[in-house]
Amino acid sequence: MAKRVSARKVKMHNQYTYQQAADLLGVSVQTVRLWRHAGLPVLNGQKPHLILGFALKGFLTERSRKPKRRLARDQFLCMACKGPTRALGDMADYKPYTSTRGRLEALCEDCEGLCGKFASQALCDELAPIMTIVIRNMKCP
Ligand SMILES: [Zn+2]
Repeated sequence: MAKRVSARKVKMHNQYTYQQAADLLGVSVQTVRLWRHAGLPVLNGQKPHLILGFALKGFLTERSRKPKRRLARDQFLCMACKGPTRALGDMADYKPYTSTRGRLEALCEDCEGLCGKFASQALCDELAPIMTIVIRNMKCP
């Protein structure tokens, strides 16, 4: 889950470089650069690029207000429908990435497109009584 960053430390009338903003908020410079691609306005007419305090504060406040999507244990996120859905025929494939974590993939009940979510081995065990889960691409014992 993404780290929660408080906008309260940002001074409205200050301006920040990527490094200063990162240090202030306790995130990496790369994170601040990613925020720029996510819509954070940056003064890029000269180097170093500057972020205005009120723009940064507004961006972080708006971002924290966005509702987090919570999926029920047997729901998946369909990229085509852009929302929660159930698995077609209650069938899913589990692709383990590590011995404890992996990805559950299924077909969307509504559009039959690919949908999925990251899941633990424990969640698979929990879902096993209500879904058919096939373990694919076994890398871990
Ligand atoms: Zn769908």
